[in-house]
This record gives sequence, C-alpha cells and structure tokens, in this order.
Amino acid sequence: MSYKKWFDAHGKKHAKIMERLTHLSTDEVIKYFVFENMVKNEVDFCPLYKDNKKCHDLEDLNCYFCACPNFRFNDEGFRLQDDKTLFSYCNIDSKDGAQFFGDTYIHQNCAGCGVPHKEKYIKSKFKRNWFEVMKKVTP
Ligand code: SF4
Repeated sequence: MSYKKWFDAHGKKHAKIMERLTHLSTDEVIKYFVFENMVKNEVDFCPLYKDNKKCHDLEDLNCYFCACPNFRFNDEGFRLQDDKTLFSYCNIDSKDGAQFFGDTYIHQNCAGCGVPHKEKYIKSKFKRNWFEVMKKVTP
C-alpha cells in the first residue's frame, strides 16, 4: 500500500471515531485514544490491535497522532540520497528517529521514537480534525 492510500484511509477512520466523540472534552478525547482503550473499543483502527500489540514499546502509548505531524512522505520520492530514492523523512530530525535503507530506497524509521504518542505533545498540537494537523505530512 502506498503512503497516500494508507494516509487517506487512516484519516477517514480517525474522522469516523471523532464523529462519535463530539460530547467529550479535549482531555477526554485524548484519554479515549490511549492504547488500552482503543484495543477494546476501536479494534478496526489499527491492524495491531487484534493481537493487542503496540507499534512502540511505550507504557503510555496514545494513538491519537498516528501518524505523526512531523513525518513527511512522497510516494514519488523527494530526491536522491546516496543513489537511493528518499521517500520519507522526519521534519524535526528526531534524535530517536532512524532511516531504513533498501537497495534503491530510503524510508524514515520511527520505531524508536515516541514523540507523537505522548499526551503532552498531543495536547500541544491538538485539533479534532486529523487531516488539519497532518496537512504538512504529504505534498
Ligand atoms: S521520528 Fe518521531 S518525530 Fe520524527 S516523524 Fe517519526 S515519529 Fe514523528
């Protein structure tokens, strides 16, 4: 699946959930998106939920900002880097981010980074419209 296909489909799932949470305050919405609650109540939101598996080994994992507002992707590729096509990168160059190198491609590897999954960060960027928060992620 291309980044864009995933991005559009995931944003729609997020919007559907938010349609049901209009009665909740910002803090309550953020709490709703805590991993343990999402696994129980929103099993279709993430393919890992059915196995009760986390994408990041974080005790307080929050899924509101999956993906991440700092992620940048381009399915056509941004540019060449070391003769490979760079398809994604981290806009804040997070110290916990990494790159995944293939023979012809480079993708951002966020596995070690918890930035968008922390409640404090989510509060600082919070918007009910996921696509609005993510508007810089895709060209
Ligand atoms: S490395 Fe962290 S901050 Fe950067 S895009 Fe990935 S999850 Fe976001």
